[in-house]
Amino acid sequence: MIHVQNLSYTYPDGTKALEGVSFSINTGCKAAILGPNGAGKSTLIRLLNGTMVGEGQIVIDSVEISKKTISELHQKVGVVFQNPDDQLFCPTIFEDVAFGPLNLGLSEREISMRVNEALQEVGLTGYEQRSSFHLSFGERKSACLATVLAMKPLIYIFDEPSSNLDPFHRRRIIEFIQRLDKTVLVATHDLDLVLDTCTDILLLNRGQLVTRGDLDMLKDRTLLQQNNLELPFRYQK
Ligand code: ADP
Repeated sequence: MIHVQNLSYTYPDGTKALEGVSFSINTGCKAAILGPNGAGKSTLIRLLNGTMVGEGQIVIDSVEISKKTISELHQKVGVVFQNPDDQLFCPTIFEDVAFGPLNLGLSEREISMRVNEALQEVGLTGYEQRSSFHLSFGERKSACLATVLAMKPLIYIFDEPSSNLDPFHRRRIIEFIQRLDKTVLVATHDLDLVLDTCTDILLLNRGQLVTRGDLDMLKDRTLLQQNNLELPFRYQK
């Protein structure tokens, strides 16, 4: 589903954020992207959803990302950003969730159906006419999920999905990711969330892929410490 080959990205100020990263993610796989601050996780997400273009190759669902294929890509890859303010900007929640489907040129009936389904899935039925500016952080995060769900993407990417959430909303997002029958990437420092939702791990540091493995990697205290990470709480004794 996702093939990344020799991907590099340098910001205009000369900062090398990614260098020669290669990996593949099979359809239906749920993989965590781990790494300390500055490892390149956000840069990788921006490249995967076409917000920025790097060097190397990204192929998603058999289509190589290029300027020509960007609009196709936006339908395939849905990103739930860390900060809801990056995702919610309309006067009402209905309009926020309808925004993507509207841009796909869908019928009013289809749009309304998708909005209702998405709001129901995230527990926000009845919030249609509310403004996101007057919702709690947890509710805004749920609304972000709905905006992505309504696009029915093939791939979901979550950037720090549990940060700033109370235990109730954190549990809800974990259950949401568990229920998703799609290809999922989760960039996070919440290693307990990874244990609950993912099967694969990509470990990044200083712009490079350190290693790829399964959940046993989260028992490797030395490897985690070398990469400024700590054992998940449930393994700390
Ligand atoms: P992470 O998400 O893992 O914390 P980032 O992808 O945000 O890492 O950052 C990777 C590297 O790129 C860091 O060295 C960071 O300082 C740098 N970087 C991020 N955004 C920019 C930018 N807009 N301009 C210059 N350098 C940036």
